[in-house]
Amino acid sequence: MPTTRLAPRIVLATGNAGKVREMNHILAAWHTQVHAQSEFNVPEADETGMTFVENAMIKARNACSHTKLPALADDSGLEVHALHGEPGIYSARYAGPNASDKDNVEKLLAALHGVPEAQRGARFVCAMVYLRHPRDPVPVICQATWEGRILTAPRGEHGFGYDPVFWVHEQNCASAELPPDVKNRISHRAQALRCLLDAFQPSTPAP
Ligand code: IMP
Repeated sequence: MPTTRLAPRIVLATGNAGKVREMNHILAAWHTQVHAQSEFNVPEADETGMTFVENAMIKARNACSHTKLPALADDSGLEVHALHGEPGIYSARYAGPNASDKDNVEKLLAALHGVPEAQRGARFVCAMVYLRHPRDPVPVICQATWEGRILTAPRGEHGFGYDPVFWVHEQNCASAELPPDVKNRISHRAQALRCLLDAFQPSTPAP
């Protein structure tokens, strides 16, 4: 019978300290302690999947195998409609294997040069996976999207990645202009995590 409660300790399959902070904050109400995989010297997994879900699964299984703890992993990226879904799962390395956020944004703006506003639609996608153990046959999986459009020049100082060129219709500003707490409430990652948590019963605090 699959568990319906989050384990009291889980490992987060990411090297990104910001994500660990964000998840710890959200999961505090769940009486679950979130450990970064770096605390266990977990090596980075090769993201060889063809989908966000496959890559999140690879990362979760890798963290589970090395720590023997249940693992939560996410994989996310940007899909641009005029570019047939690019950069997609290659968002972090769009401009090359060691590309910076700035390199990736510049490549994206060049690829969309001359494309009119109405055809600059895009969305962030996030897949979230929870594995109880490396051979868990019933992983919990959620995907969420955050719709917007790509600007013609960067704006704002917050966030990371493509945030400076992602226009958020409902907030009437670029994602990088949103205060972090607002972005963390409405983003693709926040939505995917909320969806995933809906699959679990709240647990009671440890005595
Ligand atoms: P990751 O798999 O969540 O680490 O994301 C892969 C890449 O997608 C990042 O390096 C960014 O380029 C892009 N990305 C994912 N989420 C966001 C976001 O919230 N804002 C901006 N860029 C993002």
